[in-house]
Amino acid sequence: MAYTNPETIALHAGWRADPTTGSVAVPIHQTTSFQFQDTGHAQRLFALQELGNIYTRIMNPTVDVLEQRIAAMEGGVAALGLGSGQAATAFCVLNLCQAGDNIVSSTDLYGGTWNLFANTLKQMGVEVRYVDPENPENFVAATDDRTRAWYAETLPNPKLHVFPIAEVAALGRKIGVPLIMDNTAAPVMCKPLALGAAVVMYSTTKYIGGHGTSIGGIVVDGGNFDWEAHGDRFPTLNQPDPSYHGAVWTQAVKGLGPVAYIIRMRTCLLRDLGAPMAPMNAFLFLQGLETLPLRMERHNANALKVAAYLAEHPAVERVIHPSLMKGEWKRRADAALKGGYGGLIGFELKAGAEAGRKFIEALKMFYHVANIGDARSLAIHPATTTHSQLSVEEQKATGVTPGYVRLSIGIEHIDDIIADLDQALAAAS
Ligand code: PLP
Repeated sequence: MAYTNPETIALHAGWRADPTTGSVAVPIHQTTSFQFQDTGHAQRLFALQELGNIYTRIMNPTVDVLEQRIAAMEGGVAALGLGSGQAATAFCVLNLCQAGDNIVSSTDLYGGTWNLFANTLKQMGVEVRYVDPENPENFVAATDDRTRAWYAETLPNPKLHVFPIAEVAALGRKIGVPLIMDNTAAPVMCKPLALGAAVVMYSTTKYIGGHGTSIGGIVVDGGNFDWEAHGDRFPTLNQPDPSYHGAVWTQAVKGLGPVAYIIRMRTCLLRDLGAPMAPMNAFLFLQGLETLPLRMERHNANALKVAAYLAEHPAVERVIHPSLMKGEWKRRADAALKGGYGGLIGFELKAGAEAGRKFIEALKMFYHVANIGDARSLAIHPATTTHSQLSVEEQKATGVTPGYVRLSIGIEHIDDIIADLDQALAAAS
């Protein structure tokens, strides 16, 4: 049965009891390799004439259930689990780019993604052109014949300016450029593929895992972008691949549906670069996913109350949360997010950066960690941590100011969250 509601998909898509043991929970297939039936079977699997398990670097049945489930939740055609969100971002870009190519990215990015784009991809000969997402036309202006994709985050911290997904995706489709969205901070609330994005990725480390136990990432292929219609722009998908006897991916996998992008990522990048999701971690992400829609409701409700509380607090200079945005940014938040504005909140103290440090050190229940999206409430000072390797100019472009404190609001009772914030604000002022 095909379900459409996220609450049901999260529990049922891609799995219905193990056919041999009857196990209801998805088994953890903690194995490197899968026994072939005979030499012909082995040959057919390697030649992609038949799909099946070979080796856990490339596929694994536990990871497969998570891939099917998240693809179903996103409305995509297929997904690929990876060892981290960083690997997922890198693979999204490297699946389309070769040395000499470029992508255009929003400036509003997680610090780790900024580093990957500004340094490691650059060293590999892939240029990332940063544009301000305030005006969607900036993406078009920065695009040329070697531009392979546009990249952005749905709800990027610290600015928390919701990205204009529908507007930018539509502009890209006019000129044959796919939009890749990092939806890590807005699962369930936002469906980037339905808004026109071609690919969506997650750091599953965050809300999907939800309990701060495992690092992972996933890429979902929307199956909604015509890679063949713009053949010259996508040589990795439309030119013969010497690593697969000259296969042209858009032709070779036609019989399987519009999955050329994700199949190439698995059969080439995952095979050659590694970075698979571990089966045990996939199991833990499946546990997290089961309660994700329910948890997001509480994250959203608690964060809304915390934002309102901080906005009234005399020690607080400004609060950053989509619910408090004005004008165009509020309109964009309401257009892209459904059911809430997310669990992330930024704020600055009137007394400046030093007070921000004191505040974090005074917290008793909130954990002081680099993560977001845990069931527990978390806090950090981005300028000296997640964004510390960026230059001052780069920090400014991403929206990090010296006094900014980031909160990831958990699912504890709201009274306990406010009580901890209250005592820490008192200690800092
Ligand atoms: N994207 C976003 C929005 C993130 O917040 C993070 C991690 O903080 C990543 C990607 C990278 O994910 P991971 O830490 O799983 O590699």
